Amino acid sequence: MAELAYTPVDEIPKIHAELRAGFNSGKLKSIEYRKYQLLQLAYLVQENADRIEKALQSDLGRPAIESRFIVEILSIEINTTIGDALTAYESVEKWAKPEKPPFHLNWTLMKPTIYKEAKGVVVIISPFNYPVWLTLGILAGAIAAGNCTLLKPAESTPATSSLFAELVPKYLDNDLVRVVNGAVAETTKILELPWDHILYTGSGRVAKIVSAAAAKHLTPVTLELGGKSPVIIDPNCDLESAASRILWGKVVNAGQTCVAPDYILVPRSFQDTFVDALKKKYQEFYPGAQGPKEDEAYSRIVTKQAWGRIKGLLDGTKGTVVIGGEVDEQGKYIAPTIVKDVPGDDSLMSEEIFGPVLPIVPVEDLDEAIRYVNAHDHPLALYVFTKDDAVKKKVLTSTQSGAFSAGEVLIHPGVEGLPFGGIGPSGSGYHTGKYTFDTFTHFRAALDSPSWLDKILGFRYPPYSVKKLKATDRFRRKLPAKPSGPPTSLTSSSSWRKWWVFALAIAIAAGLTKRRAGLAN
Ligand code: NAD
Repeated sequence: MAELAYTPVDEIPKIHAELRAGFNSGKLKSIEYRKYQLLQLAYLVQENADRIEKALQSDLGRPAIESRFIVEILSIEINTTIGDALTAYESVEKWAKPEKPPFHLNWTLMKPTIYKEAKGVVVIISPFNYPVWLTLGILAGAIAAGNCTLLKPAESTPATSSLFAELVPKYLDNDLVRVVNGAVAETTKILELPWDHILYTGSGRVAKIVSAAAAKHLTPVTLELGGKSPVIIDPNCDLESAASRILWGKVVNAGQTCVAPDYILVPRSFQDTFVDALKKKYQEFYPGAQGPKEDEAYSRIVTKQAWGRIKGLLDGTKGTVVIGGEVDEQGKYIAPTIVKDVPGDDSLMSEEIFGPVLPIVPVEDLDEAIRYVNAHDHPLALYVFTKDDAVKKKVLTSTQSGAFSAGEVLIHPGVEGLPFGGIGPSGSGYHTGKYTFDTFTHFRAALDSPSWLDKILGFRYPPYSVKKLKATDRFRRKLPAKPSGPPTSLTSSSSWRKWWVFALAIAIAAGLTKRRAGLAN
């Protein structure tokens, strides 16, 4: 295993001060300089793609095909990070352009404007599971927004984090971007200092520590967390596609993906049919006698400690293992494992699994599945497999989650233009593309009010009078007619109601015309 050189704790305040000086230098006020740094970032990843893949292989046993493929199709690591840097490079002028609020007669003469300004000196604290994307990809947004940035990669991916410490100073301006490597002591020191924004990706447990430390300086935080992302199976689904996608979503990176399907909710009567479909897919995915253990396309668990945690959850289950179950501590290996008949209060349901174990919780019907989801923390992702649009709509409208996908898993964070973020215990704030830029941007409200405006606005000054008080009425907005009571239906939209009224009016008019014609005859 690679050795990671930790940054001496007493150097951290110095790095903080140097980044502050870098910000004050104003270099990143220049959009051209931001673009130069963004292109350098893209080249950092492109020119070192082989080394990065090897580092990921060393840290996570991750096969190169996953690092690249996931990336190309799903946009998770190397190509995505290049893509993020390039999108920011191409869009930064547009993103950073001052905006006008919607026209309003009262204010237009003051030229109201929203300036997009950097927050200042920011920190990105990253987890181990997609270390390149969740460090350098997010950095692209911070640079585009004009911030100086401290990167704190995960200590459990020593090869990748060492590579960041080597490559960042070679490619990026050292006054503007720095790397601090280390674990709890180093991160604690970072968190003692005043930053202008902290974007933390990781577990809810550490997020509470980060939030408490940030509160001392009133530092704004974005929390990209995890949790248990459920999959709801409707028997009326494309079974083969559901089995392939769900199993794939669980084996990628050995289940160490924040949006991996965490557990399945399936009607009891359909559980065995679904398990058979998963078994068939498992054979297709890993046809060799040794299964995934010898297969180069299957990652390992990041540390022995993480391996022990997942094995402990598996050991405690009251369910029945129907696929996999093999473990090997030395190789930090856990086979993709499916467990059926898992009760709602099982060890496997007690926390985010973050590994290749997939519990199946049988329920009576869709309503019970929805009740189960709603009785727990809002998940980062919620998946449903059904051919029935009404079921999709019901799941979407009767639950809350960071994201929702019908018929798909894992892909949504890579879909350009969609925000990526959780809700409640699965996180707060968003990233990817323009959302990362906005996260690291202060929207500075500005006015430029000419003195002659006091010909209109002079009534604000004392001495106050009834006449002046009346003048303020000009600024009060008109309300629509007062409703006679709450809407009769809370589900039908008002536009539908309009159409109903319209159809009714036509029907009455047609009826009257007919009657008149009848009378005339
Ligand atoms: P983690 O919380 O253990 O570590 C993340 C970072 O926090 C590391 O850099 C680590 O050094 C630092 N840290 C750890 N303990 C600390 C402490 N006591 N004080 C200060 N800093 C500390 O998370 P992890 O195991 O690397 O990642 C797994 C978690 O991250 C899962 O819950 C997963 O769902 C979540 N995740 C979320 C997203 C997302 O975008 N929402 C993406 C990837 C992972």
